[in-house]
Amino acid sequence: MNFELSEQHQMLRKTVREFAEKEIAPIAQEIDKSGEFPWDCVKKMAELGSFGILVPPPFGGTGPDKLGFLVAVEEVSAASASVAVSLLFSSVASFLILAVGTDEQKAKYLPALAKGERLGAVAIAEPSGGTNWPFTLQTTARLNNGSYVLNGTKCFISNGGEADIYLVLARTAPEKGPMGISGLIVEKGTPGFSFGKKEEKLGLRGDVTRELIFEDCRVPVANLLSESILMPLSGIMVTIGLPAIGAAAVGVARAALEAATEYVKQRAVAFGQMLANFDGVQCAIADMATMVEASRLLVYRAGSMPADAPDPTPGMMAGIFPCEAALEVTSKALQLLGTYGYTQDFPLERYFRDARGLTLVVQPMEVRKLTAGRLKLGLPPLVPPGGAPPRPGGA
Ligand SMILES: Cc1cc2nc3c(=O)[nH]c(=O)nc-3n(C[C@H](O)[C@H](O)[C@H](O)COP(=O)(O)OP(=O)(O)OC[C@H]3O[C@@H](n4cnc5c(N)ncnc54)[C@H](O)[C@@H]3O)c2cc1C
Repeated sequence: MNFELSEQHQMLRKTVREFAEKEIAPIAQEIDKSGEFPWDCVKKMAELGSFGILVPPPFGGTGPDKLGFLVAVEEVSAASASVAVSLLFSSVASFLILAVGTDEQKAKYLPALAKGERLGAVAIAEPSGGTNWPFTLQTTARLNNGSYVLNGTKCFISNGGEADIYLVLARTAPEKGPMGISGLIVEKGTPGFSFGKKEEKLGLRGDVTRELIFEDCRVPVANLLSESILMPLSGIMVTIGLPAIGAAAVGVARAALEAATEYVKQRAVAFGQMLANFDGVQCAIADMATMVEASRLLVYRAGSMPADAPDPTPGMMAGIFPCEAALEVTSKALQLLGTYGYTQDFPLERYFRDARGLTLVVQPMEVRKLTAGRLKLGLPPLVPPGGAPPRPGGA
């Protein structure tokens, strides 16, 4: 067992780290304050090739390299988790098209997504609730005269309004329940597709999240991504979505740990003693460093697993532990800076707010846990909320 990254991945990490420190970190506070979409950073990330890490060379990328993508997400997130979430959702959109799209869809959409010339978004959540979407989803797509007629509203959609290519979940066969939910590719500018409210969020403020509104929006049949999207989407959430959220959490936690370490080494308190000389501070640093390291190992493990691994739960764990650890690490780090940590003079309060958001993105923490728990118990992963899960052995 080798715990070191390959030379190629170390090189990728170095390149993205240098880029993030030079181009993203200096404006990260500004991105957070303004809540504006960080187009400057996104364009530069595109030039670096970051949007093509999950896409193979025939479609303009350099992958698919899951581990490399997770390494890149950590580095970007250490500078700005908002920018990392934007990269994440566009890349997940590419990965989904790669996994289930037709040859025509791959040829049409992947090259521009891989080069970052066009951004992607994944639209699942709705005002009626995002957690239990296989049961609660209300957006419909009705087949009519050679196209799907899409009606409904999506909310909290990352890259909303900024992206060009939206993977939208809608019910095409309501009688089939969760299996009758399809994925459709909807391009910005399609008549009947407009944007609603932009959310003002506590954290991840540069990850612009908007409502998408579909009113008799006609989508060509050729844009049907998958007739039944539940299983492929669940698979992709485990192989890349949740581990990428975990990688973003590692980035935020690492940034908080580094900021706190720097601070306690130069902050003199009682009788000129540096904070770093206090036992309690040393223990806190050890706790934080251990959580960052353990989180990263979980993320790397998920990134190294084959797509057909018989036990998918490590992918889920990579979206659980690192996010909870990031909450704790950012909180402890903020505490070490005292009231300075609570002010906007330091980035600790941003790290703390961003870490909170990472427990909600994609799936709330409860669902990440209950799905992993059910699989560990040998129970079916999908159960209607409040529904009695069958007992092991079918009794
Ligand atoms: C920064 C950010 C970016 C996002 N980007 C996107 C995006 O690009 N695309 C997208 O589709 N969505 C996106 N979301 C939305 C996110 O996926 C949803 O918020 C999430 O799925 C939860 O849905 P909800 O907020 O409607 O909560 P609800 O479904 O209303 O649930 C509220 C709370 O109830 C609890 N709960 C609900 N059901 C259960 C259950 N079965 N068991 C236990 N507890 C339960 C949980 O605590 C949950 O947080 C984003 C969210 C954030 C914060």
